[in-house]
Amino acid sequence: AVTLVWFRDDLRISDNPALMAAAQSGDDVVACYVLDEETEGIRPLGGASKWWLHHSLSALAASLGELGIALTLRRGAAGEVLPRLVDESSARAVVWNRRYGLAERTVDASLKAGFSEDGVEATSYQANLLYEPWEVATGSKEPYKVFTPFWRACLAFRTPRTPLPAPESLQGPQLKSENLDSWKLLPTTPDWAQGLREAWTPGEGGAHERLDDFLDSAAGYKAARERPGTEGTSRLSPHLRFGEISPFEVWHAVQDNKDTSTAEDMRVFGAELGWREFSWQLLYFNPDLATVNYRREFDGFASEDPTPADLAAWQQGRTGYPLVDAGMRQLYGTGWMHNRVRMVTASFLIKNLMVDWRVGERWFWDCLVDADAASNASNWQWVAGSGADASPYFRIFNPVLQSRKFDAEGKYLLRHVPELADADNLHEPWKGSAPGYPDPIVDLKESRERALSAYKELPKG
Ligand code: FAD
Repeated sequence: AVTLVWFRDDLRISDNPALMAAAQSGDDVVACYVLDEETEGIRPLGGASKWWLHHSLSALAASLGELGIALTLRRGAAGEVLPRLVDESSARAVVWNRRYGLAERTVDASLKAGFSEDGVEATSYQANLLYEPWEVATGSKEPYKVFTPFWRACLAFRTPRTPLPAPESLQGPQLKSENLDSWKLLPTTPDWAQGLREAWTPGEGGAHERLDDFLDSAAGYKAARERPGTEGTSRLSPHLRFGEISPFEVWHAVQDNKDTSTAEDMRVFGAELGWREFSWQLLYFNPDLATVNYRREFDGFASEDPTPADLAAWQQGRTGYPLVDAGMRQLYGTGWMHNRVRMVTASFLIKNLMVDWRVGERWFWDCLVDADAASNASNWQWVAGSGADASPYFRIFNPVLQSRKFDAEGKYLLRHVPELADADNLHEPWKGSAPGYPDPIVDLKESRERALSAYKELPKG
């Protein structure tokens, strides 16, 4: 008998409940990944995520190969491809780990129903979130709308389970597979991925190395995470996004790391994982989070279509504001941006340029290696003020004060905007000579006032 394992956002062999269930079934095991760019509602991956996926799949195929089986790759609508794979392998059971977007859940539910009619047993597992979105609710059985009580309730509800080991070995027949290169997930010309290759090692091995590095320096996380010029954060986000490491593995590694870190650092780091959980809970109950204001009164907001020149200046890091430009260049160059700078660049687009948050959400979706349906949407809405437990609209980040405070010596600025080395005034280059660096595209004070008066016009909900 055969059990088919369908890999999705869980490209790992350790702490993978679906894979473990297949291994323990005593059946032969067939593993597959389906690139689904056809099912309506499933958002196509952005460019940087495709680059990541290519390398992550080849790493997964290698790990499965060491265990004794191949990874079967197919392209097409999952609702059609999966039944075909079940036929081809004569599988008696199919297993997968749960995903939480509406279109994805709809596909999974309809497959499950179809399989059950055909006598094929389909089972799903919890693997990628510490808490299922429906598990933790308020006293009146509503989803939480505010982070702090949500996370407190999660921690009181259950300690995250201990991670599972990887299976020791697997065996099973080999199905015909498509060739990963034929999926053309990598850029050709221009090859913009040089900086990504230097910055990252996609795959489960790379994820665990990243975690180990972080554990060595996790003491001081609480303060270090605010400074973009230091490697003060874990940089696990793309690995978590593709499920190369599970949140259970990260949680336990960090909690067990009592020697080198303080309880306070670990509490703060745990809460960041909590924000990831909160974002997914929001997306689960608000499937349109990437396109619809969570607080609908923001629908009346008078945002403007960006001029092509302003939008290009923001995307390419040529706004004339060093911290904004450093962030946007870090994003384009490496596929990642420091969290504080994400907030500053998003605030600049939404408030100083008065551009709708969805325009920025889409750019990040295309450029981030950690682009995540829940976290990207919820954080953009957080900055826009339209989200759940959001930063109030009138809190407008000042990029000059932010870089003075969190990158006083300009380590981060100079790394990403090297022409600032010749500027008289690093944080406010327009106040002196700054050869090769652009003038500001908007005045901070005027644009701030414009945004605040637009906000005053908004009917209060
Ligand atoms: P660490 O500080 O080491 O945190 C550990 C983990 O906690 C992260 O890997 C991540 O999984 C989670 N986490 C941390 N902060 C947040 C947060 N605010 N919201 C949700 N989860 C969090 N994060 C994404 O994973 N994908 C996105 O697409 C994304 N888009 C964002 C867009 C904007 C405008 C903003 C302001 C933030 C966005 N974030 C996103 C959240 C955050 O910036 C990144 O998770 C973080 O920078 C990742 O770096 P790290 O792994 O070193 O974080």
